[in-house]
Amino acid sequence: MTDVPVTEMPAKQRGLAEAARGFMPIDEGLALYSAAFQAPTGAWLEVGSYCGKSALYFGFAAQAQGSVLFALDHHRGSEENQAGWEHHEADLVDPAVGKIDTLPFFRRTLHDAGLEGTVVALVGDSPTIAQHWNTPLALLFIDGGHGEEPAHADYEYWVPKVAIGGLLLIHDVFPNPADGGRPPFEIWTRAMQSGGFEEIGHTGSLRTLRRIRKGI
Ligand code: SAH
Ligand code: MG
Repeated sequence: MTDVPVTEMPAKQRGLAEAARGFMPIDEGLALYSAAFQAPTGAWLEVGSYCGKSALYFGFAAQAQGSVLFALDHHRGSEENQAGWEHHEADLVDPAVGKIDTLPFFRRTLHDAGLEGTVVALVGDSPTIAQHWNTPLALLFIDGGHGEEPAHADYEYWVPKVAIGGLLLIHDVFPNPADGGRPPFEIWTRAMQSGGFEEIGHTGSLRTLRRIRKGI
């Protein structure tokens, strides 16, 4: 089910986005791109950038319509990216520090895509930044920490900032527990039950909602 009209992504941009490292299947990435054309212009924000893959899909759409994407990540990786966990990539560890550092990879991805003027990195902890953020959001994409606490914190801190008419996109929503972790599904459920949103798109694990009234 999706009501979001498809906006074709130029081939060169699509190639760059598909080649970027990260966790975004092609069909869901193209859905991010199309959805972004249904967002009002203004400030867009993603929580969880990693090496910049989703930021390219949103960034090219933002560039085409004069919006700016704020790409938030502390760049130290989520729990599931740490050594010994399922989504660990050893070459992302900064040997001098002994921690994951995706920021250099993110910067290179954005540079090579020509999006440094459109995508602005916010390097820090999501709730810390949210507490000082007062600009209404025309688009919010939640793809940060997928544990119980970080996912619900992202919902509580960021979702109230989505403007009426603005979009809320949530990644890794799996209604069937056999397919993946619960927290993204739980926050999608909270958004749907809040009365503040209607769902306008569903591609794989990506859900696209539009704010129709105030309330969280
Ligand atoms: N959207 C990306 C994938 C994001 S992976 C893509 O398209 O590939 C999740 C990211 O969330 C990780 O990079 C991790 O560092 C970040 N993250 C997790 N918890 C965070 C927090 N509390 N503050 C900021 N970033 C966080
Ligand atoms: Mg994800």
